[in-house]
Amino acid sequence: MSAYEKIATYETLDFAAFFASVTEDRIRYALIKPSINEEDFLCLLSPQAENYLEEMAQKAHKIALNQFGRTVVLYTPMYLANYCVNACTYCGYNSSNEIKRKKLSLEDAEKEALAIRNQGFRHIILLTGESRTHTPVSYIKDCISLIKKYFSSISIEIYPLEQQEYRQLIEAGADGLTIYQEVYNKDTYKTVHPKGPKSNYQYRLEAAERAAKSGIHSVSIGALLGLSPWRQEAFFTGLHGQYLQDNYPALELTLSTPRIRPHKGTETKIYEVTEKNLVQAMLAYKIFLPRAGINITTRESAEFRDNLIPLGVTKMSAAVSTQVGGHSIEDKSTSQFDIADGRTVEEIRCAIREKGYNPIFKDWEPF
Ligand code: SF4
Repeated sequence: MSAYEKIATYETLDFAAFFASVTEDRIRYALIKPSINEEDFLCLLSPQAENYLEEMAQKAHKIALNQFGRTVVLYTPMYLANYCVNACTYCGYNSSNEIKRKKLSLEDAEKEALAIRNQGFRHIILLTGESRTHTPVSYIKDCISLIKKYFSSISIEIYPLEQQEYRQLIEAGADGLTIYQEVYNKDTYKTVHPKGPKSNYQYRLEAAERAAKSGIHSVSIGALLGLSPWRQEAFFTGLHGQYLQDNYPALELTLSTPRIRPHKGTETKIYEVTEKNLVQAMLAYKIFLPRAGINITTRESAEFRDNLIPLGVTKMSAAVSTQVGGHSIEDKSTSQFDIADGRTVEEIRCAIREKGYNPIFKDWEPF
């Protein structure tokens, strides 16, 4: 069974009826089990489980300490280009938006990489929009080859690739893939991805598996919370993660909980996701998939991010610019979306230490 088929088995589930049937005993039962199944996971995502957030937090905290200790890896994104052929209704880089488009030359990419390295970062994520014309695989490969000497870990957050294309980028020096399905609900997926290659739901969903088959070290997945009812989206994200862990045990899996942020351009229907909701999703992930890391981006406020640290956060972005060349180049592009935590790297490191955790720039490097 593929990840696509696994998720499809729950498509007809009446979530409202299931949630209405969840009792407090059922939630308590899920909380005392050493490991939980898919149904327990859904119970922990139910509205009734909001009354058990403290118990969930204690359990998640213990699991996180046991699996990851007290370290939080800091990383930053590096935008290579913002050309895009898609029309995602929640993104400032949407091809219908009249924005300043830009692509870093190899020289500029090295300058940007050095500026990021000089801030202390050893883990980065390279981003592009989806344009095989402006940013073909060969260009991304050249960038990786050029800058890998500066970093211990290079992840890519780009358009979905074929298995052999992932292989090429891994051989060039990439070791991580970040690919958010954005929304697992197929109908909403169609609505918010009205045109372009990204409208192919299944091809995107199966990208993480193609990268895993190519030998990638780590994969980060997630739903953009706010595009569809969050409890269902968190459930599907967990199922997707479970599928990847079951089939690729060596893969380092991270789950992200990005909430939609203000951006330039098209409006899209937003479902409310409160901070409390996000905490519940994160705790349920940790209890369901103890070995999975949790990533919290600068889409969230400084204070909120700091409070999440003891609940299982393993990765945090810092000093983020969502502009192409945002770390080094004066003639910047339009940003993809607004960030909420604008602290410096040093400020974030201090905040992590104050929580009793160790901020680190590097937790892995390839042989
Ligand atoms: S989310 Fe990605 S694919 Fe969609 S418009 Fe933005 S840059 Fe393009």
